[in-house]
Amino acid sequence: MWHWQTPAIPVVAALCAAFLPAPADAAVDLNQAFDAAVTIAAEPAWNARLRFVADPAITPALVAFVEPGRCDVAALKNSGFIRASLAQLEPQDQGPYLEGLMAHELGHCAEHHANAGHGVIKAQAAAAGVDSTRAAQQQTLRGELLADIYMGLYLAQRHPDRAERLMQFHLQRRAQSADVDPEHNSARFLRAEQIERRSGESMLQAALRIREAVTRAQ
Ligand SMILES: [Zn+2]
Repeated sequence: MWHWQTPAIPVVAALCAAFLPAPADAAVDLNQAFDAAVTIAAEPAWNARLRFVADPAITPALVAFVEPGRCDVAALKNSGFIRASLAQLEPQDQGPYLEGLMAHELGHCAEHHANAGHGVIKAQAAAAGVDSTRAAQQQTLRGELLADIYMGLYLAQRHPDRAERLMQFHLQRRAQSADVDPEHNSARFLRAEQIERRSGESMLQAALRIREAVTRAQ
């Protein structure tokens, strides 16, 4: 359910108009989760910000809007999808899981800002004779895969005692939604225990390496 979109100027303008002041209750946790994730998973140059939106057409949960020098994460106020996810977790796991979801969005910003992969994926799809709709779906899935790996790497660093369990939970949810949301089914490729950062690797380098390995293996 977490989408990444190439920024189209009208979309970004409409989104700005829809930004709201942070609501008082549940959003406090979202703010905390975002601030925690940013310290590990974002570069200062991105100017990463969290905004709240009221329109579920923008996102049912979280979405990243990426531009040069900018990474806006929009969160739906009172998202039923996020509430339903948290309801399945023990209270002490809820904050770390939210942080992981924020790290997922920051992973989209990381890939976009590094300009890694997208052009290559399109070219590969065209060369293989894949039609454009399918190519776009594959590209989306690759982006989601990288963002979920980013989430796992964040959790491994920040919450090592919970990381594997939370990623298993997350991938299980992805697999359960595969019929209606195949573009987010990173569980098709990934297992929680595959998400490990080697010493000296940046988070993005590790995420790109792991994505290459798991997609090549299929
Ligand atoms: Zn995503």
